[in-house]
Amino acid sequence: MRAAMVEGKMKLAIREMPEPSLDKDEVLIRVQYCGICGSDIHRYKWGAALGIGHEFSGDIVKVGPNVTSLNVGDRVAVEPHHSCGECYWCRQGAEIGLCEEFYLGIERYQGAFRTHVKAREYQVHKLPDNMSYEQAALIEPTTISLHAVKLSEMKEGDTVAVLGLGPIGQLVARVARALGAGQVYATEASRSRIELARGVVDEVIDINATDPVDRIMELTQGRGADVVFECAGSIATAQQSLALVRKGGTIVAVSICFDWVDIPFSSIVLKGLTLKGFVCWSVGDYESAMKLIGDGKIDVDPLLTCRMPLADINEAFEQAMRGEGGTILIKP
Ligand SMILES: [Zn+2]
Ligand SMILES: [Zn+2]
Repeated sequence: MRAAMVEGKMKLAIREMPEPSLDKDEVLIRVQYCGICGSDIHRYKWGAALGIGHEFSGDIVKVGPNVTSLNVGDRVAVEPHHSCGECYWCRQGAEIGLCEEFYLGIERYQGAFRTHVKAREYQVHKLPDNMSYEQAALIEPTTISLHAVKLSEMKEGDTVAVLGLGPIGQLVARVARALGAGQVYATEASRSRIELARGVVDEVIDINATDPVDRIMELTQGRGADVVFECAGSIATAQQSLALVRKGGTIVAVSICFDWVDIPFSSIVLKGLTLKGFVCWSVGDYESAMKLIGDGKIDVDPLLTCRMPLADINEAFEQAMRGEGGTILIKP
């Protein structure tokens, strides 16, 4: 089998390696597509030797002896993260990302920019017949987006602002729309991404031409958005989120801004704001996201703008860093 390995900052190499041996409760999956996530881009830049690539689909080519619900030939997607179910946080019913084992799981994870990946039976979800492998590669980022919208406690009819229309922002806008948002506004700099949001977002503010805070204030009669999703992970959007949320509104930080951000902390008090963050999702969100796509409640097809072979993975990451278009899928 072949796998993309991190071999330095912004350097991946394709290496031959032996097929993984399976535990009794594991299956071997031939990867069809694996999407590039924003978190993969961070790892690529840092040269972090953590497994990259977790948004993937494929078919089962081998099953361990204790596997009962899956067969060779099944078309599947894999829920890459799980909680231990036993630690303090899990006993409180906390999100998967707060589990003591969460980062350990990430350290052990091999990544899916490779021809074959193994997974435990409980991680594997069979795809509905009408779902393509490409669509299935977007279940994981849709799960993140669904979790963000649930966390926001957005109500039907609420005015939503999505700052940044990368793949996650695009999906957050679609999920918010599907779950009953009233007006959805977004901000973005890239022309291709502005185009991708057509028909989903009521108005995309081109930040090259218009001040996003002024325009959203204007669109909301000076009140601001009920819910703001920060999906760009930049200093500017983090600051804007506080300025364009309404009094008593909620900000959900979806992307990760690793830079220090100067914010008027007092405005959280004075505007009565709720500010939320999260890593990963809650038990059951993955199935719900799969159903949103499978039932046609959200259309992910327009976001499938680029497919590239494993051999071109460095080029694919460079393209992803340019911040254009939809999701880049790697086909191993
Ligand atoms: Zn992801
Ligand atoms: Zn736990």
